Amino acid sequence: MKTIGLLGGMSWESTVTYYQLVNRGVGERLGGWHCAEIAMFSVDFNEYVDCMRAGQWDRIGEKLSDGARRVEAAGADLLLICTNTMHKMADVVAGSVNIPLIHIGDATAEAVKADGLSSVGLLGTAFTMEDGFLRDRLAGHGIETLVPEKEDRDRVHAIIFDELVKGVITDESRAEYLRIINDLRRRGAQGVVLGCTEIGLLVGPDDTDLPLFDTAVIHAGAAVEAALG
Ligand code: GLU
Repeated sequence: MKTIGLLGGMSWESTVTYYQLVNRGVGERLGGWHCAEIAMFSVDFNEYVDCMRAGQWDRIGEKLSDGARRVEAAGADLLLICTNTMHKMADVVAGSVNIPLIHIGDATAEAVKADGLSSVGLLGTAFTMEDGFLRDRLAGHGIETLVPEKEDRDRVHAIIFDELVKGVITDESRAEYLRIINDLRRRGAQGVVLGCTEIGLLVGPDDTDLPLFDTAVIHAGAAVEAALG
């Protein structure tokens, strides 16, 4: 079994999910008392939020690369950045280590294609919804993305940073997300990518009959596949 490298803490609320998912995934595949071999570095997210607010993405790239090297030095054979937003610097991080990076966008695209869909809504931070780093990655796989209108993008982003990354889950915010998901459906989305690794803490398949693609679940699943071959 290969050792799975997790670069997490962004936020730790979803890194917990990754930790559970890769362990359970390996256990399900191998049975017995098997669980994943993991090397993890979990950052102090506050520093990253400060950098994001200041637009200091080069600094974020340096910090992520430092974290990735620590994960590699701890024995990882492959690397996951446990957040969509930080994939804005994925190329920089991938270039800083000698182990392969499993890109969250590639893993998600494979899942969307496996379901036969070609047009999906995308929810995530403002960076993820408005920058090209994830949308272009999906487009490279032939998948078109729709994002909410500006006011709703702001709402989605605020709920992530004010609530989800702090472990705050409310019925009001769930209702808001479902309203926005339904709006994306009305505009033609065949499914919705939960393109922020904490959104699965708020909404899931029991809340809507529209196909949802939870990037944390998909990404962790891809890591298990890569680790076990
Ligand atoms: N975890 C979130 C994501 O998947 C947002 C927090 C972050 O900025 O990393 O994008």
